[in-house]
Amino acid sequence: MATDIQAARLLIHRAAWLKDQKQDFIMASAMAKYFAAEMAMKHTVEAVQIHGGYGYVSEYHVERMMRDAKITQIYEGTSEIQQIVMSRMIEKGILY
Ligand SMILES: Cc1cc2nc3c(=O)[nH]c(=O)nc-3n(C[C@H](O)[C@H](O)[C@H](O)COP(=O)(O)OP(=O)(O)OC[C@H]3O[C@@H](n4cnc5c(N)ncnc54)[C@H](O)[C@@H]3O)c2cc1C
Repeated sequence: MATDIQAARLLIHRAAWLKDQKQDFIMASAMAKYFAAEMAMKHTVEAVQIHGGYGYVSEYHVERMMRDAKITQIYEGTSEIQQIVMSRMIEKGILY
């Protein structure tokens, strides 16, 4: 979990850095948004599982974190649309 979170953070920082440098950041931002959203969903589901029944009930914050993670796969460009953006970039020879 910690490794994926750190990897997502680095992708986000790279996309932000490219934007600050006024360089093309379409591929970098699609990768960052896609990866961060997927990892957030994967690991909050796992966090609910680790907590067992307590993970499911609303008294604990972990179920809220799972729902909050889900929306990141949907808004501001769904994960599927980020994949389309990335595939179009790869077609143009932009790999990262
Ligand atoms: C809580 C919340 C806040 C929001 N805030 C804002 C906001 O502030 N501003 C704003 O403008 N919008 C906002 N939205 C809207 C949000 O951006 C859209 O819900 C999102 O873009 C997805 O569009 P849609 O719901 O029409 O789904 P659809 O476009 O109908 O997509 C449904 C599903 O089909 C998939 N899909 C669609 N097209 C393709 C394709 N070509 N190939 C493969 N899969 C595809 C999608 O990935 C998705 O899984 C918000 C939504 C929510 C739930």
